[in-house]
Amino acid sequence: MNKKSIKNVVIVGGTHGNEFTGVFLAKYWIKNPDLVERNGFDTKVIFANQKAFKEVRRYIDRDLNRSCSQTVLTSTSILHEELLAKDLNSQISSSDFIVDLHTTTSNMGLSLVVSNTSELTWLAASHLNEKFPDLKIYRWQGDEEGAFVDSLGVNGFAIEVGAVPQGVLRADLFEKTKELVYALLDFLNGDLSAKKEIEIYDHLSLVDFPRDSDGEITAMVHPKRQDMDFKLINPNDPMFLTFDGKTIVYKGSESLYGLFINEAAYYEKGFAMCLARKIEYKF
Ligand SMILES: [Zn+2]
Repeated sequence: MNKKSIKNVVIVGGTHGNEFTGVFLAKYWIKNPDLVERNGFDTKVIFANQKAFKEVRRYIDRDLNRSCSQTVLTSTSILHEELLAKDLNSQISSSDFIVDLHTTTSNMGLSLVVSNTSELTWLAASHLNEKFPDLKIYRWQGDEEGAFVDSLGVNGFAIEVGAVPQGVLRADLFEKTKELVYALLDFLNGDLSAKKEIEIYDHLSLVDFPRDSDGEITAMVHPKRQDMDFKLINPNDPMFLTFDGKTIVYKGSESLYGLFINEAAYYEKGFAMCLARKIEYKF
């Protein structure tokens, strides 16, 4: 990988209007561009969904971070986030690296969500993983692959930090996100070398809440599962607690890791957590 091949880097914040860390970091860096400039390349900072931020909502019409598919980009639809996705695409699709800043109400700590497959994407993830031992890497391979903002480019990923409520700033997570972005920029401005083997949590499936015949949720994430992101779930471990106090256990035969446990934004998407397998990934 040749460092000179990197000419422009994009930082996106406020893709979700109620995730304030990304919103306020984007606003901060737009006012103080010298902090994210590096000698080797240009850095563009974008505050993506300003209308949703004003209303402290994730989105206005549809989830921008699920709207960057070719289907949407080539459609004539005029929903707010579809127009934003098309505008973002024209602005950033030719950039050399896209980092998109998110927060979660789940106890994900510091994590990256990686859906791009390029070598540079993985070298950057590997470097950050070495520099920040607490950083976890989640490889997303779901149905909506290709619809994330960072997937508008060939290289890039999303930073997810939590737990933090929607519409709230937490200084510790704000500072950690800032450190991650600065380390990423320095990496991209360096020799681009990193270990080509990395421990990742590889997406397997989504687990919905138990529901009745009307589709209503009938149970909550079990107290023993709450906040246990990146912890192993063994067969027969508690998963949910019904409203009348009964425990529902994990029926799978393989021990797996739970991620995005009880994320507020995923109630409407119909899942209570993701299941992932921990692997050593060589690239
Ligand atoms: Zn988000």
